[in-house]
Amino acid sequence: LIDAPSTVSTAPVALSYELFPPRSEAASATLWATIRELEATDPDYVSVTYGASGSNHDTALELVDRLQLETTLRPLAHLTCVGGTPEELSRVVNELLDRGVRGILALRGDTPRDGHLPAGALRYAQDLIELIRRVELRRSAQFAAGKVAIGVAAYPTRHPESPSEVHDVEVLLAKQRSGADFAITQVYFHPEQYSGLVHRARRAGVTIPLIPGIMPLTSLRRIEKLAALSGVSPDPVLVDRLRAAGDDDAEVRRIGTEASAALAEAALAAGAPGLHLYTFNEHAAALEVLARLDLPRPARPSLAARRRALS
Ligand code: FAD
Repeated sequence: LIDAPSTVSTAPVALSYELFPPRSEAASATLWATIRELEATDPDYVSVTYGASGSNHDTALELVDRLQLETTLRPLAHLTCVGGTPEELSRVVNELLDRGVRGILALRGDTPRDGHLPAGALRYAQDLIELIRRVELRRSAQFAAGKVAIGVAAYPTRHPESPSEVHDVEVLLAKQRSGADFAITQVYFHPEQYSGLVHRARRAGVTIPLIPGIMPLTSLRRIEKLAALSGVSPDPVLVDRLRAAGDDDAEVRRIGTEASAALAEAALAAGAPGLHLYTFNEHAAALEVLARLDLPRPARPSLAARRRALS
């Protein structure tokens, strides 16, 4: 039912945002202004990225802590595993669970350039899912209220290291069988890339929710950087339009948010159960995309009432 196609569905849509741990005092101030703006929209959770090989372990955990202590937001902690040993990764999973985190996005991360992995190290996201489930089992007495929710990455366009989109879906199915509860997609630029993924995945037996990851397409520099990092080719028509808008910031903003909202609308029409917005730690463009959408959201208490309930 979750992905049943519909163009007029009024079922509530889950909403989440991605944040990354700040690298400086100034970046932290911007991030916290963003967090306060996003909090007012009452998302279901906010995700916190994690550097490859745990490069930002401390700042990631610090951000998770502050979200838990100082906001009404529920963190989904990203965790990368490639090259880490089971002992190291169990320790981080336990650190997260000790902090009250009950949602982890299990990722591989980037493999080391020389491709060398230490003996016994984890190789794939699937290995991390299985490790998290083992840690959870050892601590099962604590989870009377429900298990840890595990999210994974899914790819509307072929993962750069994968031989085919079919292989990507087989990997997604393997991640589901190992215990993944939901998936968030990589950035994509054409609506049919999301609906194509859903179609391939459902046909292969993937039943978990597939949440489209939507990037506010308001910065050409950011789009090009992301394309280089992720191997996803940007839409050349969009790139030309953004380039033609040049220094006209308002026009760039209009073109970019309109394009992102169109992707989100098409995904919802294809039955997407939620939206995950890549914020790049800035709220304005993400909230402009949302404002264009008029999402059906569940009726919830005001921010003040939510704060009172948690104090
Ligand atoms: P996997 O699912 O392990 O797949 C990696 C590659 O291995 C694929 O080509 C796959 O086909 C292949 N593969 C997987 N399992 C098998 C198997 N059993 N047998 C054969 N081949 C297999 N990166 C970060 O460093 N930090 C982050 O916080 C972060 N957040 C992200 C959030 C989202 C929503 C997404 C989509 C990506 C994120 N990434 C992040 C990037 C991610 O780490 C990369 O895309 C990475 O290259 C693959 O990660 P994965 O979890 O999909 O890996």
